[in-house]
Amino acid sequence: MPGEKTVLVVGGGISGITAAVEAAESGCKVILVERLPYLGGRVAKLNKYFPKLCPPTCGLEINFRRIRRNPDITVLTMANVENISGSAGAYSVKIKVSPRYVDDHSATSQCVQDCPVEIDNEFNYGMNKTKAVYLPYEMAYPMNLVADGEALKKARGSAGFTEFLESCKTKGIKIDLDAEPRTIDLTVNSIVWATGWKPYDATKLETLGFGSCANVITNVMMERLASVGGPTQGHIVRPSDGKKVNNLAFVQCAGSRDRNHLPYCSSICCLASLKQATYLREYNPDAQAHIFYIDLRAYGRFEYFFDKVRKDEKILLTKGKIVNITEDPRTKDVILEGEDILSGTKIRRTFDMAVLAVGMQPNTMEEKVPVSGVTYDEFGFLVSDEGVHPAGVCRRPMDVGTCLQDATGAALKALQDTLGR
Ligand SMILES: Cc1cc2nc3c(=O)[nH]c(=O)nc-3n(C[C@H](O)[C@H](O)[C@H](O)COP(=O)(O)OP(=O)(O)OC[C@H]3O[C@@H](n4cnc5c(N)ncnc54)[C@H](O)[C@@H]3O)c2cc1C
Repeated sequence: MPGEKTVLVVGGGISGITAAVEAAESGCKVILVERLPYLGGRVAKLNKYFPKLCPPTCGLEINFRRIRRNPDITVLTMANVENISGSAGAYSVKIKVSPRYVDDHSATSQCVQDCPVEIDNEFNYGMNKTKAVYLPYEMAYPMNLVADGEALKKARGSAGFTEFLESCKTKGIKIDLDAEPRTIDLTVNSIVWATGWKPYDATKLETLGFGSCANVITNVMMERLASVGGPTQGHIVRPSDGKKVNNLAFVQCAGSRDRNHLPYCSSICCLASLKQATYLREYNPDAQAHIFYIDLRAYGRFEYFFDKVRKDEKILLTKGKIVNITEDPRTKDVILEGEDILSGTKIRRTFDMAVLAVGMQPNTMEEKVPVSGVTYDEFGFLVSDEGVHPAGVCRRPMDVGTCLQDATGAALKALQDTLGR
């Protein structure tokens, strides 16, 4: 519409959602673009938030309501920005929207159960399977089924497949495997980029056993393992044999502050491990958690959270660098080796399971903003530039509370681009 001011927000995690609602509630039209079938980003996959230890849904749900009630926000899921041209104040943008392949607004779980095709569950970091027609997670926004078109196309003609499609039809759910992507061309005045992060690839940490030891997992996987919506319905058990974990090790700075991997500190990993130690202690009061750290960093007011957690006598802290993890081939226990920094002695300890506290790497390291003139630092974090305003972890590592402030700041800059011209 002529005279209308529009902000494009790319990335539907907590930072993008915050920027979108702040800009829309200040009088702009907002297009919120998310590449996955659901909003919420990595926060949706957390079991609880530090420091209050409340479930992430409490923060997300309020924002989903703000989006739902605001006609000035258009949400495009399964969407990617393909091209941007122009400059601050007037950008032309091309967005490709992939099909969901399923037209359903009732989220009928029966349809999901009937589906004969299974895929890795992306939401649970591949730790279990899900049906190829699925609701991404129990609180998903939008609350709509989505289908893995590629997996279903491969299954065409296989036993039970036609019956499954027929049964969907009788329930009023339409599956259209011939659906095509569509392209949308837009003009926007300003852009907020909030494409977030991914966990550092633990398979690159060759001596720390990820992939070679069955009971070595990463911190993001631990969030799902402790969650009732996770692969074990919240039971903290070993991947190798389903045995209840009694003795858990956390390996801090797994690849972080290491010039061969991520030279920077992701700032939240120590707090995340302290939080995850409380998951174990709550689940299994007899269990012990042992955190091996180089420096335990609990910045600002998070010091109070650290103080609270360390009062638990079954949460042990050792200033020690773990350099090697192997497994006992018979028991699948994990054996940690390293150095106790304070005593100068060697560490060699056996645990039921180990969690690698891997850092956050910006998605902009690999996927750049498709417009010229945007700059990045040496690690791929987006550096602020006129017209394209970074928000959240794609700008630097930060916790959720800081993301909210950062995204509000980015929305304000976007408003200056739009309303100020
Ligand atoms: C193990 C662990 C535990 C944590 N626990 C806590 C905690 O308890 N409390 C706390 O405060 N913080 C915690 N954090 C930090 C928290 O997860 C981050 O602060 C938060 O996820 C940052 O949100 P974001 O929106 O910036 O990025 P993200 O959550 O990564 O969201 C980015 C979104 O952008 C989308 N996207 C990516 N690329 C594109 C693209 N090209 N086009 C469209 N969309 C795209 C993604 O799919 C995603 O939905 C934890 C981190 C870790 C590693």
